[in-house]
Amino acid sequence: MRHFTDPAFRRTIESLLLSDVRQPGQYIGGELGSVAKDPESSRFHLALAFPDTYTIGMSHFGFQLLYTLINRKEDWICERVFTPLPDMEKALKSRNLPLYSLETFRPLVAFDVLGFSLQYEMSYTNVLTMLDLGQIPLHSSARTKTHPLVIAGGPCVGNPEPMSPFIDLFVIGDGEEALEQVCDFWVETKQNFPSESRRDWLLRIARHFSFVYVPEFYDVSYDASGRALTPKPNLPDVPEIIRPAVVDEIERYVPSLTPIVPLIESVQDRVSLEIMRGCPGRCKFCQSTAIKRPIRTRNVESIAQIAHQSCLNTGMSEVSLLSLSTSDYPHFEELMLRLRELLTPMKVSISVPSLRVNHLLSQTMQCLTTERTGGLTIAPEASRDEMRRRIGKPITNENLLAGCQSAFENGFGRVKMYFMCGLPGETDDDLDGITDLAKEIAHLGKKTSGRFPTVIANVSNFVPKPHTPFERYGMMPPDYFREAHRRLKYVNKDRSFNVKYHELALSLLEGLLSRGDRRVGQIIETVWRNGARLDSWTEHFQNALWDTAITAVILETGINTEQIIHVPYPDDAELPWGHICFVP
Ligand code: SF4
Repeated sequence: MRHFTDPAFRRTIESLLLSDVRQPGQYIGGELGSVAKDPESSRFHLALAFPDTYTIGMSHFGFQLLYTLINRKEDWICERVFTPLPDMEKALKSRNLPLYSLETFRPLVAFDVLGFSLQYEMSYTNVLTMLDLGQIPLHSSARTKTHPLVIAGGPCVGNPEPMSPFIDLFVIGDGEEALEQVCDFWVETKQNFPSESRRDWLLRIARHFSFVYVPEFYDVSYDASGRALTPKPNLPDVPEIIRPAVVDEIERYVPSLTPIVPLIESVQDRVSLEIMRGCPGRCKFCQSTAIKRPIRTRNVESIAQIAHQSCLNTGMSEVSLLSLSTSDYPHFEELMLRLRELLTPMKVSISVPSLRVNHLLSQTMQCLTTERTGGLTIAPEASRDEMRRRIGKPITNENLLAGCQSAFENGFGRVKMYFMCGLPGETDDDLDGITDLAKEIAHLGKKTSGRFPTVIANVSNFVPKPHTPFERYGMMPPDYFREAHRRLKYVNKDRSFNVKYHELALSLLEGLLSRGDRRVGQIIETVWRNGARLDSWTEHFQNALWDTAITAVILETGINTEQIIHVPYPDDAELPWGHICFVP
């Protein structure tokens, strides 16, 4: 059954938006840059789903890139859907109206494929909200042949197990080619084998693609302590190890030269452009570098032309150069010169959000003389050189101070630094060093420019992530972090800097969701049924709901969540994510 845009449904939604919902602009589409293909002329329909609100999802470069690439295919229409805020959820639910795409108001259940982008673990309950509002069964096992194929990609699929009850298949690695291949294969399989079951169709996909994980065809067993082992195929010819899809050149995938201009203020109102994928760094805690190999770059002239044309087409006044470590882009100086040549006459500024601290940082600062409005954002991660050596981050405080000095000399008035606490082998000196370093930088700024800069030290709680060299470590216990936070509440008499640290409850949940096994899906479902929504938003996050859900699932299943989060894995132990491998 097909549901094309239904004018009556659209009118119902529009009247609902006018009467019952705040910020209705996020639910109506029609933005400059959005693609409105004729639903009758394209045969297949993909809904790209970002499991967070419009204001967050619209800032995501990869999401917009995939939207553009699929819409360039003749046979396919790609539309967008985001998580509604609680007032919209309530309004839809109370009238039994389905969640729909922004472009044609098509109910999610009427798409051929529904593709989630899993960027962070605390968005998992939003996936359930969207499936439920989309009138799609939460569990993969309950879906029929008429339901869309529900797929997921993104960095979180490095450990797909916690979300595996809800997702039909996970795509591991780069999405540019893989997404379209999986979509095409799905509709062709349905056409070619109409009498087969949905399970048969999924099995064909599992056997065909080496980068696809279909949880249904893998069984999980547990060791004597109750710990989950690596899932194993339960049918022949299903890959034991799933390897990533890798695109050779990101250059081939040109983003839209008219990126979508959000109708309401989004987190980043600017043209964002990925200039490099991967990072030459090998920091032992860093999942991003481990899952995005090898390094691939766009060339200077194509970056410059895309940026220039996008600003001309949208009127945006800022271009943000994205990569894990932008200053490691091999032609950084040439790129900045070319961009300035094209963008300065248009009064467009350039922002460089991820700079690596190294011996080149002070030169980079000289290169960024006109990009100082956003301040300098850097990630020293640890306060002492010795700890940095241990975690594989080969930078020194000497590099850092020289870079900051150069930034102050070039007019920067703000330095934001990211640190971690709870790293393996951490001592009190490492913690005290964070405040000492922040203070030293603040005073360096005062000495250089005559006034105190704004210096912020953001301290996160270290979670050993799958696929990193630290994956077998456990997270430090909650009491350790409480004591570390107490220590970080340094009495800063001259108020020259600020220290902020992440909420511990959220970090512990991130540990559970990123390191957990398939049983953690039951916790996600329970907490969602109990009312958890938009957990990555401080104003919506309710830790008590998670505590209750965890207790209930422990009683029911015997899962040991403390073990999942805190107990290290011996070198020879199987890992719950051992079937996923990011080495192509
Ligand atoms: S420099 Fe940054 S992105 Fe690169 S490996 Fe280290 S932490 Fe990861």
